[in-house]
Amino acid sequence: MMKEGGSVLLVGVGGQGVVLASAIVAETALRAGWDVKQSEVHGMSQRGGVVSSHLRFGQRVYSPLVEIGQADAVVAMEWNEGLRAMPYLRRGAPLIINLQRVIPPGACRNRLSGESTYPALALEALADQVGDVRACDAGEIAREVGSAKALNAVLLGVLAPVMPFPEEAWLASLADHAPKGTSAANELAFLAGQALRYPDETHAQAARAALSPNGLHGQARPPRLEVIEAWCKGRACEICVRACPEWCLAIDGSAAVRVVRPEACTGCRLCELLCPDFAIEVHTA
Ligand code: SF4
Ligand code: SF4
Repeated sequence: MMKEGGSVLLVGVGGQGVVLASAIVAETALRAGWDVKQSEVHGMSQRGGVVSSHLRFGQRVYSPLVEIGQADAVVAMEWNEGLRAMPYLRRGAPLIINLQRVIPPGACRNRLSGESTYPALALEALADQVGDVRACDAGEIAREVGSAKALNAVLLGVLAPVMPFPEEAWLASLADHAPKGTSAANELAFLAGQALRYPDETHAQAARAALSPNGLHGQARPPRLEVIEAWCKGRACEICVRACPEWCLAIDGSAAVRVVRPEACTGCRLCELLCPDFAIEVHTA
């Protein structure tokens, strides 16, 4: 297939760098001399919604859309989105999947214990269905090399050996697209992903990730909430105060919302997702 060209589907949720990763793959293919078409869907990405990007390369490409059963690789930055994208895989093609789970507030049954209706990390069952599963804890690997945000570069490193592009093309495209000051961290993350060995490291990482049922990946400290006071409508709104299941937020006569019970925050992100003014950010890393 790769002599004629290929198809890649990249999926994830808002903030994981799906669109940037897809742009890097597209530029790498161009540098390697292929014609490329790419498209993306990111309607509610700023609210943690689903993001996907289709990409096809070949001698001459007329449409970017990857048909069901035709992807030569699926790169999933989030576990559940990877499961949803499985039908796109060509038989025998690899599913490159991050072990990170972004559990939507609506799927939580008990935020503190992590009980939810979200699909479990059933790696062996997935391998039975797909065959070639290249799973890793991309967020953790990115953190280890210096930048938690470089998780998309880790997954591109996992993708690189199955694509017909030279390493120099990958590294040059990464350097072109890396946000200012993050070039070195992105390159390290890419190389770390490229060096992973399957399935041994996959199973070891899955076992560690499964110990974190709430998807927060061994986070030792409570989430940190950041309120951008200039954007908060305060008493005229109060949506986050009423929505927070743990009563962490209050207004109490102040112009903007305040965090009054930081120790009770479970990092569910309901306040961040429901704020109409993007005035709250929940940092869990
Ligand atoms: S939902 Fe947003 S705008 Fe409304 S009170 Fe909360 S932080 Fe302020
Ligand atoms: S403050 Fe926000 S993130 Fe923390 S528990 Fe309340 S709604 Fe969830």
